[in-house]
Amino acid sequence: VVGTDTSITKYKIVFLGEQSVGKTSLITRFMYGSFDPKNQATIGIDFLSKTIYPDSDGSENSGKVIRLQLWDTAGQERFRSLIPSYIRDSNVAILIYDVTSRSTFDYLDTWYEDIKEQKHDFDAQLESGEFCIVVVGNKFDLADEKQNEDDETSDIKRQVTYEEGERKSKIYGAKIFMETSSKTGYNVNQLFKQIGDILPDFD
Ligand code: GDP
Ligand code: MG
Repeated sequence: VVGTDTSITKYKIVFLGEQSVGKTSLITRFMYGSFDPKNQATIGIDFLSKTIYPDSDGSENSGKVIRLQLWDTAGQERFRSLIPSYIRDSNVAILIYDVTSRSTFDYLDTWYEDIKEQKHDFDAQLESGEFCIVVVGNKFDLADEKQNEDDETSDIKRQVTYEEGERKSKIYGAKIFMETSSKTGYNVNQLFKQIGDILPDFD
């Protein structure tokens, strides 16, 4: 928690995962409801904020009000040194892989170790809910067999099953596992809604 005023609680969410899994695209989809297929520069050292109302039906005057700070990260050397401090300060770490890239899935173990290193009382924080892990398999659209079965030119295939992702998320003690697509928007709002639901009340 970075601070509370009268009614709004702020939470920091850090996005971790190998280059190109879609961290920046997922943030862009959630923030602006859009997708840019060109390579985007990572937001870098800064964060974006978005207020959500997880209890409400869309009207903004009922239930809890939560401000999410979304911290994008990049694998390039010039940004990498900042990641440990982002992790240390975060309430939620989203570990993202690309469902069409086995190596990005396997590499999550390294990010998980980084988290354990930075969060000194890792087990206690997970237990209390003070810190949460979320696992996301992105680029679901590319693995959607129904959508791709007519497209014989596409040789992009799913390399990680849903069950494998789910199993790994349990090993990590993650509270949420989801497959998403920043391209189509599949499960993106649901993901942040669920995050809003699991965030602890600090009052
Ligand atoms: P980052 O390095 O993790 O921030 O990844 P980016 O958000 O920059 O995305 C890397 C590339 O993958 C870009 O060309 C995106 O357009 C593309 N991309 C990201 N998310 C998706 C997705 O859900 N589906 C598809 N098909 N492409 C995606
Ligand atoms: Mg990026």
